[in-house]
Amino acid sequence: LEINFNHLVSNLNYFRSKIRPETKLMVMVKAFGYGSGNLEVSNVLQFHNVDYLTVAFADEGVELRRAGINLPIMVMSPEVNSYDNIIKYHLEPEVFSFRNLEFIEKAMQNLALPEAHPLKVHIKWDPGMHRLGFAKNELPELISRIKANPMLHVKSVFSHLATADNPAEDDFTLGQIRNFEEGSQMIVEAFPYKVLRHILNTAGITRFPQYQFDMVRLGIGLYGVPTTEADKGLLHPV
Ligand SMILES: *Cc1c(COP(=O)(O)O)cnc(C)c1O
Repeated sequence: LEINFNHLVSNLNYFRSKIRPETKLMVMVKAFGYGSGNLEVSNVLQFHNVDYLTVAFADEGVELRRAGINLPIMVMSPEVNSYDNIIKYHLEPEVFSFRNLEFIEKAMQNLALPEAHPLKVHIKWDPGMHRLGFAKNELPELISRIKANPMLHVKSVFSHLATADNPAEDDFTLGQIRNFEEGSQMIVEAFPYKVLRHILNTAGITRFPQYQFDMVRLGIGLYGVPTTEADKGLLHPV
């Protein structure tokens, strides 16, 4: 398998040119870096100063830390037994249900170190599938539990667009965005410090650039696979 990092950097710069200078860039390196090699890809991304990396599972984040990656790393699907490693390796878990919040609270309680510092977490806003993520009626409890815990710090609130690549579904996508805008605003206003907001994936970056909020999440496009008409011919397969 040959991986072309010049192409990867060219794709990175292509998407960077679409976002405002102040918008942060989170890159998905889940699933072995979409099959391109998570360690190698992450090294290149660290060299090129992306703001955040994201993996699916805690073990993937631990592997990156052991390989010398020190960028912030979000973990989307932290396993039940992974929270000690998440704390130890400075990984940042997603909070997607009260059940997983409870695991996080317990792990922080058990950590009685004097040098312990707050754990950065990322709140998932329900994208409308009613499976994972918080909805409006759950916000009061979520916010009061996090605010009551000095060991938790909300780094960001985010949601996911299901069909940003498909113009036929634009009404649905805009509905998802409006719903996120309203819900995430309530979370942002609840905390005295800055909470980042983000919803755009690759197709969203190209098709809905006006909704960058504070950060975007680049995935498949980095690896050279176009998901929109506008990107065709402008990306290079890695
Ligand atoms: C995989 C993933 C992305 C990236 O999506 P692409 O379509 O590959 O750009 C963004 N956000 C979340 C939550 C993801 O799981």
